[in-house]
Amino acid sequence: MKYLSTRGHDLIDFATAIQSGLAPDGGLYVPQTFPKIKLENLPYAELVTALIKPFVKDSPLEQQIADICEKAFNFPVPLTQLNDNTQLLELFHGPTVAFKDFGARFLAECMNRLATKKMTLMIATSGDTGSAVASAFHGKENIQVVILYPEGKISERQAHQINCWGDNILSLAVQGTFDDCQRLVKSAFTNANWQAYTHLSTANSINIGRLLPQMGYYAYSSLQYFQQYGVGARFIVPSGNLGNITAAFWAKQIGCPITEIVAATNANAIVPDYIRTGNFEPKRSVETLANAMDVGNPSNFERLKYLFQTHESFAENMPAYAVTDAQITDTIKETYQKYQKIICPHTATACYVRNQLSDKPWIVVATADASKFEETIEPMLNIEIPVPPALQLLLKKPSHFISVVADEEVIFNTVKKYFS
Ligand SMILES: *Cc1c(COP(=O)(O)O)cnc(C)c1O
Repeated sequence: MKYLSTRGHDLIDFATAIQSGLAPDGGLYVPQTFPKIKLENLPYAELVTALIKPFVKDSPLEQQIADICEKAFNFPVPLTQLNDNTQLLELFHGPTVAFKDFGARFLAECMNRLATKKMTLMIATSGDTGSAVASAFHGKENIQVVILYPEGKISERQAHQINCWGDNILSLAVQGTFDDCQRLVKSAFTNANWQAYTHLSTANSINIGRLLPQMGYYAYSSLQYFQQYGVGARFIVPSGNLGNITAAFWAKQIGCPITEIVAATNANAIVPDYIRTGNFEPKRSVETLANAMDVGNPSNFERLKYLFQTHESFAENMPAYAVTDAQITDTIKETYQKYQKIICPHTATACYVRNQLSDKPWIVVATADASKFEETIEPMLNIEIPVPPALQLLLKKPSHFISVVADEEVIFNTVKKYFS
């Protein structure tokens, strides 16, 4: 299997694609083809192995993929019933209790096996990516990790989950927005100082090594859904940078029984606006309750555009709805009152959208455990949210981070000093 850039044609293998993150022409890597893969209900890690195998063919990782999947996916992926015609695909049973564990853990296993000399991963995060990547890469000796997050704009608990690692994980609290963080990471890739200092890569959702394994849970749950209802699954995906939903479309491409995929965004309505108007207009992100989705310029739009080609096809295939903070709040309250289920603000955007759609059975993709957002949810529901054991473990560790201004040179010098 070869990979090409959304903006060009140079074909490279899987190992090269995950190690470089962004393509040299500024585009994002996509598989050259989507082979139809015949899948059957299997234990999770085995199913993902079968699914990923064609995508790592002819790369140095081909023979190790079963072992990689066994190590990366060592937690449950339950599909639970919320009501008669709504299921929750619970993607928050990994070590940092959000779905980003899937991509981060797979990528860490791959990169660790590929790294022959020291390399640096640099990532911008609006919350959950940072903790998932830090957890997945902590202690991997050939990889140093730099994490940038917007200081004060993510919850204390989220920040702690990024700051609690130390060692090969440098946590930078940037005085700016998530978009500033993302811009700083992008600019490092074209900066000569960085190139001279280290081999730089990224673990953001632009990295193909995070996207591919995310097809796994769409395959797994759509097969179960098909068995239950005899028709293809319908998913609603809480979306920000659009990585998760891109994986859903790719799973459909390879032949998983999926009929509909709908995006739910928060007030950062870039995609719903694009679908309505045909104009893709990135904006400064606004802060919402679903802060891991506060993205004003979703990177993976480029991959979806590459897949759909035209605005018409995009709009036809991917309905998208924006959900306000007030609607998120109402949905969290209503879901708790009706079903005694505590959902996170991101999951709430998809639950809200679900309530606007048909009676047909839908799967709401539940992206994080509510206990990560206790500051938001506890006052709403007037309860104390139980903290899952995985999270309790992290919260007990001490915190390490450096606060920096949103400046390229300051960040470069801080990183060099920390790892010297
Ligand atoms: C990252 C994240 C999202 C958004 O996923 P994208 O792939 O960026 O669209 C949704 N919910 C949670 C909890 C997240 O951490």
